[in-house]
Amino acid sequence: MAKRSSVKSASKKAKSRKSLPKKARRSAAKAAPRKGQAKASGKNAGKAGKWVYAFGGGKAEGRSGMKDLLGGKGANLAEMANLGLPVPPGFTITTGVCTYYYANSNKYPKELKAQVEAALARVGKITGKAFGDAKNPLLVSVRSGARASMPGMMDTVLNLGLNDRTVEALAAKSGDRRFAYDSYRRFITMYSDVVLGVGHDHFEELLDHHKEQKGYANDTDLTADDWAELVVRYKKRVQDERGKPFPQDPHEQLWGAIGAVFGSWMNQRAITYRRLHSIPESWGTAVNVQAMVFGNMGETSATGVAFTRNPSTGEKKLYGEFLINAQGEDVVAGIRTPQEISEDARKEAGSDKPSMEQALPAAYKELTRIYNLLERHYRDMQDLEFTVEQGKLWMLQTRSGKRTAKAALRIAVELASEKLITKNEAVLRVDPASLDQLLHPTIDPKAERKIVATGLPASPGAATGEIVFTADEATQLKADGRKVILVRVETSPEDIHGMHAAEGILTTRGGMTSHAAVVARGMGKPCVSGAGSIRVDTAGRTMTVAGQQFKQGDYITVDGSTGQVLAGKVDMVEPQLSGEFATLIGWADSVRKLGVRANADTPADARAAVRFGAEGIGLCRTEHMFFDEERIQAVREMILANDSEARRAALAKILPMQRGDFVELFEIMAGRPVTIRLLDPPLHEFLPHGDKEIAEVAAAMGADPRRLKDRAEELAEFNPMLGFRGCRIAIAYPEIAEMQARAIFEAAVEAAKRTGKPVVPEVMVPLIATKAELDLVKARIDDAAKAVKKETGAKLNYQVGTMIELPRASLMAGEIAESAEFFSFGTNDLTQTTFGISRDDAASFLGTYTARGILPGDPFVSIDPEGVGELVRIGVERGRKVRPKLKVGICGEHGGDPASVAFCHRTDLDYVSCSPFRVPIARLAAAQAALGEDAASQA
Ligand code: ADP
Ligand code: MG
Ligand code: MG
Repeated sequence: MAKRSSVKSASKKAKSRKSLPKKARRSAAKAAPRKGQAKASGKNAGKAGKWVYAFGGGKAEGRSGMKDLLGGKGANLAEMANLGLPVPPGFTITTGVCTYYYANSNKYPKELKAQVEAALARVGKITGKAFGDAKNPLLVSVRSGARASMPGMMDTVLNLGLNDRTVEALAAKSGDRRFAYDSYRRFITMYSDVVLGVGHDHFEELLDHHKEQKGYANDTDLTADDWAELVVRYKKRVQDERGKPFPQDPHEQLWGAIGAVFGSWMNQRAITYRRLHSIPESWGTAVNVQAMVFGNMGETSATGVAFTRNPSTGEKKLYGEFLINAQGEDVVAGIRTPQEISEDARKEAGSDKPSMEQALPAAYKELTRIYNLLERHYRDMQDLEFTVEQGKLWMLQTRSGKRTAKAALRIAVELASEKLITKNEAVLRVDPASLDQLLHPTIDPKAERKIVATGLPASPGAATGEIVFTADEATQLKADGRKVILVRVETSPEDIHGMHAAEGILTTRGGMTSHAAVVARGMGKPCVSGAGSIRVDTAGRTMTVAGQQFKQGDYITVDGSTGQVLAGKVDMVEPQLSGEFATLIGWADSVRKLGVRANADTPADARAAVRFGAEGIGLCRTEHMFFDEERIQAVREMILANDSEARRAALAKILPMQRGDFVELFEIMAGRPVTIRLLDPPLHEFLPHGDKEIAEVAAAMGADPRRLKDRAEELAEFNPMLGFRGCRIAIAYPEIAEMQARAIFEAAVEAAKRTGKPVVPEVMVPLIATKAELDLVKARIDDAAKAVKKETGAKLNYQVGTMIELPRASLMAGEIAESAEFFSFGTNDLTQTTFGISRDDAASFLGTYTARGILPGDPFVSIDPEGVGELVRIGVERGRKVRPKLKVGICGEHGGDPASVAFCHRTDLDYVSCSPFRVPIARLAAAQAALGEDAASQA
């Protein structure tokens, strides 16, 4: 059930615990120190020499603002204690101890022992018990707690302090021997598993065997004697496995558990988790030691978890589960079916088991009071853990709850309307990148997933369709009204029309920044890239994976949000740009300073751009208009032309089509600015490759195949990225730029006439390195404008500007700005040329670079604020010095990346331009940047 897994991913947790080999865990417990550790005197050292912070008994030495020192769990336990809430007393050993431990060959600071003893004594005093006491023993839990919650860390050990003597005392005091031995066997299991490296399975095996022998079905059938008998066997098993008895000394137990928490900071699971979530090793973890309260003390005791609002929808309703007569994580471990907390929820779920509201009314009332108080106090949705011991409620944890993007929006907006937070705070509460989840169709959570392969989640959203293996077939089927998924080994610019026609794209090669990934994200189409286990036979029109064959026409589904490829059709849910979405984005718009435009090449893109709130088009790539089936022929004629006259004749055929494109684009944009880039890619991209295709094209054109082949070879390049492209084409073949400029201006005049809104086109010249290049091309553009003005008699306002995408252009920006009226930083190419890394080839080594920390991340995803950033800053500064009103923006993938948007805000650009589907992300990220908050810290 979806609900269970979002309360807490118990099965995942259990699995990951089991899947960790015993040996790994054992060695993790005594992990070796590392070089280069932050010194103990680092940031997280608190008051000098103070290593332990007490809480409970109505007050605490810590508070919620001290997460760096006390970890999230410890800081919030302290906060709850200070609020006077019922928190079992305890203490937190600081993250500073962890740092010290690793900096000093796994030794503790000398003051620690005494401080722990004193804190234990204080807990004993509050509870009226004593640690290790044979009559009235204090039992504790030992809980890890880093600054950010970290699943890689040691699991909690409960009931610590039990041994053969104290268990009898517990039995006598509680008058419940079964409870005492149930607690003891739990303790042996947990402690052995996480501290001694003797896994769960040992004890499960013994338990199963015992149940079988006695003919028991459930754990609840076991009597006190049964548990006592099992405890003997459990201890024997530990002895057999480690050659040493299970420790009976409570102090040895305690220090063993503390050591295991610090040791787990360096285990593989934790290291991997930190790497994936950019958590520095220097943070360290804290350890919380806390008096036990018992949810397993009979029918008036219980344990549970709850969210103050629904974490998947955001609805303002307590959401959670509890279990009677249970301890710790029994609720989420799936041993018994948990019960609903409120009566409402019970009715809604149609459960016949009593709710907490019915079964434990006083504790329920107290929980209601406390959760409302905590939400108001923290001013955010909280994720709570609690235990009821013989009718009395105890709070064991609170933290801001994880939530879906949908819930995040609703909660932020509702908290603002409840006046708990301001609108600006609401804007800061939502992670811009998470909006991506909401802008595309997704797989119905209720649908069954028949996963056949998993690749990279290259472009979010999901799509179902018939498999096609070529772009042309995609276009044909689409024309017949069919839905297709384009499956390729990898894509190239020649596949663009097929990608447009397809509902989704699947490739078996290439990374997150491969052609397929970048183009698909630009189009807002779902894409799974690099699904390496799939073998594609394009000629045979089949794909094979794990022995299963799919033919052209078979249905598959790609989920670009998870990277999954599924067999068959799967139901989808459409994106809901709900009321809260519009409200929050509206608040964001009112604070952001940065403009947000879209990259849009087609009328469909432009419509999406307007729908998502783009204030203009920052980049229209005209070459995409050339790949259309009827047009490519004329383009090829133009490329094959022997002289300028023949070229003009071919271009004359293209002109009306280009004009038509622009008229439509201008009409849709209704007076908003539109930046159109002149032809950029090298011409050979438009020519066929391979003898068969050349022969076909030649036949269709009535051209000589040899001539076609020669021309293709002539134009072939070793490194097209640095080749005959950009303004270099316009300079060698000025007729092309002339035609494009004319098409733009004629369209501007016509669209203005139709809509009544003046169009001010911005003509952009790509890949400029020198002012002389720009001047040459600009002269052609100006000539075309003059001619169109004269012919139509219309007024025509336009601007000519350039892409800044070569380091030289940044450096010479002052000079270039004498001719350019605007700059658009093409940060994709600027990153390639600054690093000397080709984006298409980067995948093979970039992973190593980021893993080794040479680069913090993929510079094509998030702009390198230092190197590439410096070139942007230089360009802006030198350009504006010469032309103070110079308009400056960026276009490319970076425009929709929150961290890059923040960079653009800091650099004082006028706008960012990104794919239409990322426009809302950029709007929110720009607002957060304006509010002076790093979007990343919200994630
Ligand atoms: P996690 O970080 O995995 O949530 P916790 O340290 O919160 O681990 O412990 C898990 C569960 O163990 C808690 O939710 C609670 O049910 C139980 N627990 C922890 N400490 C105590 C305690 N002092 N008394 C009773 N139960 C406890
Ligand atoms: Mg844990
Ligand atoms: Mg917890």
